[in-house]
Amino acid sequence: MLSPNQLLKKYFGYENFRPQQEEIIEQTLSGADSLVLMPTGGGKSLCFQIPALLLPGTAIVVSPLISLMKDQVDALRSNGISAAFYNSSQSFEEQQAILNGCHNGEIKLLYISPEKLLSDTEIITKACKISLFAIDEAHCVSSWGHDFRPEYTQMGFLRERYPSIPFIALTATADKLTRRDIIKQLKLKKPQIFITSFDRKNLSLEVKIGVKPKEKINEIIDFIQERKNQSGIIYCLSRKKCEEAYEALQNQGINAMFYHAGMDAAVRSSVQERFINDDLQVVCATVAFGMGIDKSNVRWVIHYNLPKNIEGYYQEIGRAGRDGLPSETILYYNYADLQLLNKFAGEGAMAEVNLEKLKRMQNYAEADSCRRKILLNYFSESPDQNCGNCDVCANPRQHFDGTVTVQKALSAVMRMGEKEGLNMLVDVLRGSKRQEIIAAGYDKIKTHGAGAEIPLFDWQRYIMQMLNLGILEMAYDENFALKITPAGNDILFGKKKIELTVLNSIKAVEKTVKTRQPKIVSDYEELFNTLRKVRRIFAEKENVPAYVIF
Ligand code: ADP
Ligand code: MG
Repeated sequence: MLSPNQLLKKYFGYENFRPQQEEIIEQTLSGADSLVLMPTGGGKSLCFQIPALLLPGTAIVVSPLISLMKDQVDALRSNGISAAFYNSSQSFEEQQAILNGCHNGEIKLLYISPEKLLSDTEIITKACKISLFAIDEAHCVSSWGHDFRPEYTQMGFLRERYPSIPFIALTATADKLTRRDIIKQLKLKKPQIFITSFDRKNLSLEVKIGVKPKEKINEIIDFIQERKNQSGIIYCLSRKKCEEAYEALQNQGINAMFYHAGMDAAVRSSVQERFINDDLQVVCATVAFGMGIDKSNVRWVIHYNLPKNIEGYYQEIGRAGRDGLPSETILYYNYADLQLLNKFAGEGAMAEVNLEKLKRMQNYAEADSCRRKILLNYFSESPDQNCGNCDVCANPRQHFDGTVTVQKALSAVMRMGEKEGLNMLVDVLRGSKRQEIIAAGYDKIKTHGAGAEIPLFDWQRYIMQMLNLGILEMAYDENFALKITPAGNDILFGKKKIELTVLNSIKAVEKTVKTRQPKIVSDYEELFNTLRKVRRIFAEKENVPAYVIF
């Protein structure tokens, strides 16, 4: 029998495994469960495909989208591996032929949707000797994740029904909470959790704040025209926006198309295929586009609007640069989007969680420190160095020794038993005597009022910095209580110092311009921002006098 390494070479043509792939394969081969967290494009598929080739019988691969199954099955077949998908679009005869293929041991991997697996469990069990269960895109099982699919939650019974078959759950997005939830929902048995680094160094990160819609589309057109042969994706919030953006691009002769869930399935899959085959340069899409798209040379991803949460954002930008070559990502952020998203997020059972996640997204967009650090901290990875490949690193903000400020906040968090959220913390630090504070006895703790000199809004932003720096953590499942991380403990107990970012003053610039006070600017970025604002005021009111003196 061939070894995993030999199979890697024979069927996939690769010389070496990527970090952790081999360990994951061994884990499954030993019959144990695993949860695999690897970024998009990291190479999750091989982790169950190679065990499927080595174990007797057929691997059942649960996958949420028919288009995704088809792509994977086509790819496997072109590598000479016998695989099939099984779904309700097939005729009885087709299904029967596939089941026969499983029965006589020919088909090594069977891709199936969760619904179909649940409805046809008996038939499949009779036909196949099941070698393993792979649950791909496993974050769909959790309502904490960003792409919840209720059908996934019913799969928990499989683990009990097949106690001796190994399970492997795979996903590219899972914060701590989602991780725990996946294990619980799928009833995984003492799974080993494999987390490879989420850092995608080849992606540059940029956020553009407050660009007006008209300027935005023009900027994007210029951007694309400067990158003639590079394909990219523009993510928009609404279907309407996708179509509008597409029209604007097409008017400029850019080879683009739009993609959203309101389109006919056949048209959608043709857009996807044309994009993959380099027959389309740009797709203007909603988040419906992309799950599992295996196109290695996407050179850029633009977010036309603010995404709903960091998980989704990270997965979307992750579609760029899967070949490891430098790729660009740009996020356009403005308050109008934020307000709209706030409105959407505030509805339904998950309102509170959605709003908190949106707040973290907002904070990323407004961040004053290395953006990659923020993203990685969000996924509980704590890089030491700034990345040097984001707009904040390119344009560093000023810092100050924030150790005492942080200690005050952390000490208050500790003294309140790590069970309170952000607003309570700020109120306690500022010495509020509102009723809940008195009732809980928080007016008696030592740090009550210890930060009264810092304005409320600034405290909120400092605490957001602490979250982004990985000093504090927010427990979404415990009423958003703030908790001190090990890194936070080091600062609280004086083992380490920490720098905070001087709060930026975009608002101050705007106010100065509006009230016609002279504004002295000290660097190019500020100058540029100021000029932009001056120009806007000119455009709105022609007779506003403004002078720029060099
Ligand atoms: P994921 O499911 O994690 O998003 P895939 O399994 O689709 O990623 O793999 C992404 C790409 O990486 C594929 O083109 C795959 O062939 C390639 N790949 C996977 N493992 C390796 C490896 N060990 N060496 C080189 N390329 C690999
Ligand atoms: Mg995948």
